[in-house]
Amino acid sequence: MNSTSKIYSYGRQTIDQDDIDAVVEVLKGDWLTQGPYVKKFEDALAAKLGAEYVTAVSNGTAGLHLIGLALGWQKGDIVLTTPITFLASANCILYCSATPDFVDIDPVSYTIDINKLEQKLKDYKVAGKKVKAVVAVDYAGHPCDWKNLKRLAEEFSFQLVNDNCHALGAEIHGDITYAVKYADVVNLSFHPVKHITTGEGGAVLTNNCELDEKIKILRTHGIVKDNSKFIMQNSELIGPWYFEMQELGFNYRITDFQCALGISQLKKLDYFVSKRNEIANFYDETFNNDERFIIPNVQKNLKHGYHLYPLQIKFENLKISKKGYFEKMRENNIGLQVHYIPIHLQPYYKNNFGFKEKDYATAESFYEREVSIPIYPTLQNEDIKYIVDKIKELAF
Ligand SMILES: *Cc1c(COP(=O)(O)O)cnc(C)c1O
Repeated sequence: MNSTSKIYSYGRQTIDQDDIDAVVEVLKGDWLTQGPYVKKFEDALAAKLGAEYVTAVSNGTAGLHLIGLALGWQKGDIVLTTPITFLASANCILYCSATPDFVDIDPVSYTIDINKLEQKLKDYKVAGKKVKAVVAVDYAGHPCDWKNLKRLAEEFSFQLVNDNCHALGAEIHGDITYAVKYADVVNLSFHPVKHITTGEGGAVLTNNCELDEKIKILRTHGIVKDNSKFIMQNSELIGPWYFEMQELGFNYRITDFQCALGISQLKKLDYFVSKRNEIANFYDETFNNDERFIIPNVQKNLKHGYHLYPLQIKFENLKISKKGYFEKMRENNIGLQVHYIPIHLQPYYKNNFGFKEKDYATAESFYEREVSIPIYPTLQNEDIKYIVDKIKELAF
């Protein structure tokens, strides 16, 4: 037992008095839901991430759903993603009745394998089929090979989505605005384990005006409110109450007080990301020259966001099983996690789409070894020392 009896998980939020004050201030005002802070938060995200258009939504999964709808995915469309991601990256394909398929991960970056993607695109082409879109995930906070993804998107003309939920604050060549530059549309989540939080929450970023307009309409029931658009035959306005529903939309709105929290959190993003990088550097140094472990690789031109620290443990060489290791760590107040069970192995995907074991070998062997160890800004030096001691001590 550690001296303070703290319980560690792989991730958690950082909330301070500024955040609390910001929320309380909005709660005392007139607007709880669609007030001025939604737009303010969207503008702050747009400025930070270099996006022309931002739509804040109720959660990241809702954002992905709206992206699929706005991109026009429908029955028969093939949309690709990787098996090593949160379910929502693939489920959004199903929400639109499109057909999901997977591309294995690269064994070094753990993101979509560019060569395997290219091969799959060629195979589909030879079969006379077109891939509608690719949902690429900056897994753990490591940006994908976006330059090559963009090249393939142009060559094979598919839509490119960045599920960027792990990588807020990551950079390519020092550029924090890379996501919206390469992808047609970018998705963020503000769940408490992510870099910044609004409780539940998410945002969709794009430089495409038309796409943004669709997403904003679909966020609120498909309602078009701009009264000046609706004119009677005698060219009079119908009336101030009038609106039209032109698409089937949803209520995927976020509240004003959540957005106040988001604005306050976003101011601390750089600090959060640098704390995560400090902790990761310490882990790297600790586990790098130890045969039992494989540390996550970071390409030189990148800044990793470290939503996760995916440590691979070679359980095949140890006496302790992965299950036993998790239990022992739990007894020592360290809650590990696994990111992720490969999606193609989920019963729903196996039963409905015929995926099976060995379909994506790299993803499956990564899953065997992967352990997400605690990484979040409020971990103190003594916490991290305690955690690494236990990780090493119990890996026998
Ligand atoms: C967190 C996450 C989402 C969305 O999650 P919500 O909990 O709905 O906000 C989507 N994709 C990935 C990769 C995620 O990590």
